[in-house]
Amino acid sequence: MKEINSTEFEKEVLNGGKVVLDFYSSECPPCEALASKFEDLSKLYGKDIKFIKIFRQQNRELAQKLEVKSSPTLLFFDGGQEVAGRLSGGIKRADIIKALDSMLPSGRVKEIKALIKPTVSEFDVIILGAGPGGLTAGLYLCQAKINTVLIDPSLPGGHVSTTHEVSNYPGFIEPQAGYMLSHNMSEQTKMCGTVYKVAVDITRVDLDKKEVVIDEYETVRAKKIVIATGTTPNLTGAPGEKELKGKGISYCATCDAKYMENKEVVVIGGGNSAVEESEYISRFASKLTIVHQLAKLTANKQAQDRAFSNNKINILFEHEPRSFTRDGDKIVTEIENLKNKERVKIVSDGVFIFIGWKANIDLFRDKLVLDQWGYIKTNEDMLTSIPGIYAVGDVISKKYRQITTAVADGTIAAMAIAKELD
Ligand SMILES: Cc1cc2nc3c(=O)[nH]c(=O)nc-3n(C[C@H](O)[C@H](O)[C@H](O)COP(=O)(O)OP(=O)(O)OC[C@H]3O[C@@H](n4cnc5c(N)ncnc54)[C@H](O)[C@@H]3O)c2cc1C
Repeated sequence: MKEINSTEFEKEVLNGGKVVLDFYSSECPPCEALASKFEDLSKLYGKDIKFIKIFRQQNRELAQKLEVKSSPTLLFFDGGQEVAGRLSGGIKRADIIKALDSMLPSGRVKEIKALIKPTVSEFDVIILGAGPGGLTAGLYLCQAKINTVLIDPSLPGGHVSTTHEVSNYPGFIEPQAGYMLSHNMSEQTKMCGTVYKVAVDITRVDLDKKEVVIDEYETVRAKKIVIATGTTPNLTGAPGEKELKGKGISYCATCDAKYMENKEVVVIGGGNSAVEESEYISRFASKLTIVHQLAKLTANKQAQDRAFSNNKINILFEHEPRSFTRDGDKIVTEIENLKNKERVKIVSDGVFIFIGWKANIDLFRDKLVLDQWGYIKTNEDMLTSIPGIYAVGDVISKKYRQITTAVADGTIAAMAIAKELD
């Protein structure tokens, strides 16, 4: 694996044969999650394909020329031509493997796959998800000397690691950078001795057998499972959103706001996330337009006050996005006035979408009793409808989704499990 800068691009990439190029940024959790997969795969595929990294912040011109609009972005080259399609955002190991395999003859792919040996490991408890809920459960279980493994497709921290500032977590007088708060939570749990399997692909979850398969070849079994998988941002569903995701449309302000220096930005949403993240984005952007479907913001009062007094922020109430298209370097957001149905287009350099969440339960949805919004129902011990399966944090059916409430759920589940396993 090699790190280059833009002056070496022609030699190393365009004239470099088969190459996979990683445009990464600092303070970018999905970039860090990708780094370990990239390094791991370079050991498997490195003889056939060159693995190259490039720091996007210091090579902005090249990134712009190649139309790299999101961090991380993986580009695949063969003989100077881009092949295999781009990958960006929260990149799965399986998708990288698919792209790499498509660059090689099938016989060689078989030889590489034969080098991977399946493994099985046993624990008392598997925790799925290393956000505040999962990390707290991991800490309490570890302190109770229960052999616990935390599994997460990303790096530890959950949503907190991409929240720019947290001002309501008890114990800190000053607002804390979300990244540092989640780092400290994770280090505390790790130092206690909880095993981490993070930045992995979750291939399969079998709640009845209490078995999780990761990266296709690694089986992890336990007596109990704690589901702490949190939520994923909702999509607007407007045409163009999926196509432009990672190419001008972002769901992570800490990852992409820094590329909006002196640029114009559209934010879709009007709740806490939309308004608080708009404030952060406005540190970089020259102008920011919030598009909100209701007649009032639904964010907390303090955040609203700051947004209203921020002269870079303009708010369009009772409007919804109808389509997203590209025009050269710009993103054109067509919005509809919900009162008179008139449509107008806003041209901007980037769009951020913060319009609510859905529970991350796709891998085990059928097995659990859910509420009407698709969140997992639990009892007061955080036990789900399946014996031995607990759920904590934002993924469960509850009224208030905050760090403190996720941490409380994690504590309760861990104490209930410790008592049962005693
Ligand atoms: C922009 C923003 C700002 C916020 N600001 C605040 C604030 O200031 N104060 C506050 O108290 N709260 C805030 N919140 C809410 C808070 O972040 C959440 O309530 C809290 O993070 C929930 O913790 P969790 O552990 O349940 O889930 P998450 O933090 O969502 O973590 C879930 C973890 O599970 C992983 N995962 C997903 N799917 C799987 C799978 N299939 N298998 C294994 N792992 C999986 C994810 O990668 C993630 O790491 C904010 C949220 C956002 C989005």
